[in-house]
Amino acid sequence: MKKKFTGIVIAEIPYGKDNLITLCTAEEGLVNIVVKRSSNERTRFTYAKQIFTFGYFYVRGYGDMFNVLERLEIVDTFENIKQNPIKRIEATNLIFVGKEVAQFGDADAALLLELMTALKTLNYNDLPQNLVLAKYMSAILKGIVKNINFSACTLCGEKFQDAAFFESTSNNFVCADCTDKGLIKFSKLQIDLLKLLIETDYSMLKTIKTAEIDEFLKQMLKIFNIKVSQKFKFYAE
Ligand SMILES: [Zn+2]
Repeated sequence: MKKKFTGIVIAEIPYGKDNLITLCTAEEGLVNIVVKRSSNERTRFTYAKQIFTFGYFYVRGYGDMFNVLERLEIVDTFENIKQNPIKRIEATNLIFVGKEVAQFGDADAALLLELMTALKTLNYNDLPQNLVLAKYMSAILKGIVKNINFSACTLCGEKFQDAAFFESTSNNFVCADCTDKGLIKFSKLQIDLLKLLIETDYSMLKTIKTAEIDEFLKQMLKIFNIKVSQKFKFYAE
């Protein structure tokens, strides 16, 4: 059976004489595809075996699990990311987060779109380091928590003073009185930054001026790790 996947290569390993690639796709989430070794110049699929290659992958399917690549139409290979070590690290983190999220999700075009928009923004702009990753993590959190309460406790309604705490059962922010110890603390600055990142489009990220990105990302990664351990579904309705 022939199939077409819209996707990006997020992993590649040797597979006997061939290569096995993993794609994050719009159609079926994570998909594994065998790229046969070929001596034919026209079907060598050099880019199919490279992480970050984005395009249309035409495969022949054998059963549910086994796909062999027959044709590739490349849309972008993100060369600026590949050639800039700092961008490359940030892009690798974007892919890592996307892969973790995709493994629990259903076929989700929104997730691929989010990842592609983040990678494009990183590839074609020079923004402060980790700003795109911070935006992407914020968008993912928005995908889990439909109505984030930025100003008041979800449980008692008390306005946040100097901090808010992320509570992973209600998936929202609560005040100091409603929290048990050990929850993830966001300073007022960090919760304002989260709101700003969610409300700001990738194309407008350059308007965000903050020195808080790395501390903010640490807190976002703590939430992310808890949600991954709970096998959450991103953008699930
Ligand atoms: Zn409260």
